[in-house]
Amino acid sequence: DTNNTSKEADGISSVIPGWFSEISPMWPGEAHSLKVEKVLFQGKSDYQNVMVFQSSTYGKVLVLDGVIQLTERDECAYQEMITHLPLCSIPNPKKVLVIGGGDGGVLREVSRHSSVEQIDICEIDKMVVDVSKQYFPDVAVGYDDPRVKLHIGDGVAFLKAVPEGTYDAIIVDSSDPIGPAQELFEKPFFESVAKALRPGGVVCTQAESIWLHMHIIEDIVANCRQIFKGSVNYAWTTVPTYPSGVIGFMLCSTEGPLVDFKHPVNPIDKDESCCKSKRPLKFYNSEIHPAAFCLPSFAKKVIESK
Ligand code: SAM
Repeated sequence: DTNNTSKEADGISSVIPGWFSEISPMWPGEAHSLKVEKVLFQGKSDYQNVMVFQSSTYGKVLVLDGVIQLTERDECAYQEMITHLPLCSIPNPKKVLVIGGGDGGVLREVSRHSSVEQIDICEIDKMVVDVSKQYFPDVAVGYDDPRVKLHIGDGVAFLKAVPEGTYDAIIVDSSDPIGPAQELFEKPFFESVAKALRPGGVVCTQAESIWLHMHIIEDIVANCRQIFKGSVNYAWTTVPTYPSGVIGFMLCSTEGPLVDFKHPVNPIDKDESCCKSKRPLKFYNSEIHPAAFCLPSFAKKVIESK
């Protein structure tokens, strides 16, 4: 029946009955599985299938087109790193743009920075925003900050309309390059990002797994070395519910005041004000920041050769 078919499209019962299995051509031959206690939401937006389920060991889980976007238990590892790696690397960030990130977790992290005056977010899918507000209040709490302005639309088109040199930092919290996020991994998009940044401004983009996607990472690094005339670095973190258990970030800066991503100048974990009205940081600290740039030899070799 149709109910079963749509459940299968979301990855339920395709491998082990009663478990969610994450199957995708992005990681052929493997499928991480989580035991499902209860499916809480299933919908289809103009862009993707959206599902929320209660897992037995990772809390609630947000799934888009059959791919896990976040779980309550390990989202801290992703949101804190994708945000504080760039923002702690520059003094006094004021204007920040988030592309994607509709769940609001990156907003929650950006808002810990007291120097920030303006936080724009451009998310393509309003259903992701609404579902996060309903099922993930500790993540969507990011929307409560009065500095946040939400734009629903395509990040590619949004960036093209941004006046040159507007932002101190841009964070691209995208899904995988299959579906609506495809263009967010392509060269013209990185060119618009560079244009929208001030001299010495920084970008941090979700840049997939060194275990699964070296070919995608190679292309991103090669493009970024051509486009960004400041620094170009790859960092990574562990997220147990992402395929292969790790995820990487591409960090670049534009020509201007030099940004040394490996030596943060704007520490946040020493600033009490960052955590007054929020939960304390769970993952990021000033020791893990430089450590995130240490790469295993096989990845280092490829990334440095680009
Ligand atoms: N914050 C998540 C986490 O903790 O892992 C990461 C995934 S986030 C939900 C990815 C978002 O990017 C999705 O909500 C998706 O709708 C959005 N997105 C995909 N393509 C986009 C585009 N072209 N413009 C803007 N947002 C896009």
